[in-house]
Amino acid sequence: MDQTYSPVQQLLERLHDRHVKDDSGEVASYIPELATADPGWFGIALVTAGGIVYEVGDTRRRFTIQSISKPLTYALALEAIGEQEVRRYVDVEPSGEAFNSITLQQGTGIPPNPMVNAGAIATASLIEPLGFERPIDRILNEYSAFAGRELEVDEAVFESENRTGSRNRAIAYLLQNSGVLEQGPDGVVEQVVETYFRQCSTLVDCRDLATIAATLASTGVNPVTGSRVLREDTVRDVLSVLASCGMYDAAGDWLYSVGLPAKSGVAGGIIAVLPGQLGIAVYSPPLDEHGNSVRGIKVCEDLSRQLDLHVMTPGRRPPPPVRAERTLVEARSMRLRPEAEQQVLREFGDRVRVLELQGEITFAGAELVTRAVLDRADQTEITLIDLAAVRGISQVDVPIVSDLIDHYGELGGELVFSGLDRIPEFSESLAAHRRAGDLEPPNGFPDLDAGLEWCESQLIERHGGKRGPEKLALQQHGATLGMSPEQVARLNHRLEPRTYAAGEQIYSIDDTRTDEMLLVASGKISMYAGRKSAGARRVATLSAGMTLNEVPMIGRAPRLSSSRADTEVTGWALSHEGLEQLRAEDPDLVCSLLENLLGMVAVRVGHMAKDLLR
Ligand code: GLN
Repeated sequence: MDQTYSPVQQLLERLHDRHVKDDSGEVASYIPELATADPGWFGIALVTAGGIVYEVGDTRRRFTIQSISKPLTYALALEAIGEQEVRRYVDVEPSGEAFNSITLQQGTGIPPNPMVNAGAIATASLIEPLGFERPIDRILNEYSAFAGRELEVDEAVFESENRTGSRNRAIAYLLQNSGVLEQGPDGVVEQVVETYFRQCSTLVDCRDLATIAATLASTGVNPVTGSRVLREDTVRDVLSVLASCGMYDAAGDWLYSVGLPAKSGVAGGIIAVLPGQLGIAVYSPPLDEHGNSVRGIKVCEDLSRQLDLHVMTPGRRPPPPVRAERTLVEARSMRLRPEAEQQVLREFGDRVRVLELQGEITFAGAELVTRAVLDRADQTEITLIDLAAVRGISQVDVPIVSDLIDHYGELGGELVFSGLDRIPEFSESLAAHRRAGDLEPPNGFPDLDAGLEWCESQLIERHGGKRGPEKLALQQHGATLGMSPEQVARLNHRLEPRTYAAGEQIYSIDDTRTDEMLLVASGKISMYAGRKSAGARRVATLSAGMTLNEVPMIGRAPRLSSSRADTEVTGWALSHEGLEQLRAEDPDLVCSLLENLLGMVAVRVGHMAKDLLR
């Protein structure tokens, strides 16, 4: 198979083929230099939010950006002086008029929006040089970040437009007359108009434009270079204006049929943005009567239809926020528990509910989770919310989740979390919100296993009643089930008492000696797959009455896990040698012992299988 095969590439090639012969429309000639363009030039580029670039046709031919510069300078102004200040000079209402119309809004006397020339000239006047020599240098610097390469002005096109730009000068004088441009020193109009003409004469190619569009699609981060160009709120403002005003007096028709925020330029470029997914650019100089590229419109219409890109397409619901709902009867931690404790969990396990969430949690998602928790409040004592598979939670959910903790608490329940740390933005805001309200911090556990273990211990504590003695005698140990007192004494004779301090390593995976096993009399032990230090995963936890290392010892096989004492641990070690001696003395005893061990191993294997299958 062709290694460069891609369905997107194929699609773009088919679109290019379909429209390449369409020669309708006229190349702009009111700027004389633009009239030299060949009407046959035609390129399509698509850049995904992941930074993958697809292109076909004349995508490396340079042309001037023209009006596609307008949203970029608008974005710069928004970040430079703030939205409120910008809106004193230019509104965000679609005008329904041509891009170069010489009218201002009735009443306010300011341009209707930043996408028509009047609004764009007003916007350009708001850019201070700030560390650059001229405003245009700061503007070019911004555009270059958008495109991911150093952009420059085509002086020939600039001269051409500057020589013939009476209409834009007329607009600028009108702006000055109505106070949008400063009255002040001579040459204000001239300077602003030149800045505007220069920004329009910035040289780009189709690929640059698609990268610019993709930057707007991916929250303001240029997906090719990885650097942030705009803040997220600026992107939203800019896309809103593009959706309502980007295509001038054809904006309504465009939103209806293509349904993507977009911008065109008279040199023949068009960009369209699908938020969160991709940026598209088309270059083809012949324009329709609105000044929009004819092939550009057709390609965008086709793409939108074929790929179902219309932003108003209904029914795009996110996946449900709760991907699994279980109780402690089905969901268990890795801790292996003695029979008495298991009994408690079987009986009361359904009083703990585990909600595993997934994806991006929106406002609607939090509403669903709230209901899932509260609907069962009278049947549950604890709800554990696992966030390990959550990619993000909206900031609007911070007070909702905080209130849920308290409300569930008032109903007698306790809401706890696992995996909070994986979404630091949310967990920090939640903690701050709780602190500000003088409330307890959220109760969180690093992972689901730790959360489950805590819930189990809570249930056992609350409903356990009689719990086993702290330290088992040998005859109480699971390994001696069915043995006579004489056999227990015989076994005892071959055992060596052991004590491990909390935190002490018991068996290491690196230690290949497998010549003994441990019967645990008291304390807790964790077993880790791999080497403990390097973030190894806990695979099981053992407590009194259980055995450690019996499989490698009896099977004479290498150890697959390391073990460590969580608390002080006491027990008895049985060596391989001791086992052989017992076999000679009392084969029945060894038979019971092995049978008991096999029973315990079976329980553990059952646990692991359950974990694998879930
Ligand atoms: N520089 C051009 C002008 O002001 C830009 C217009 C456009 O691209 N629609 O006329």
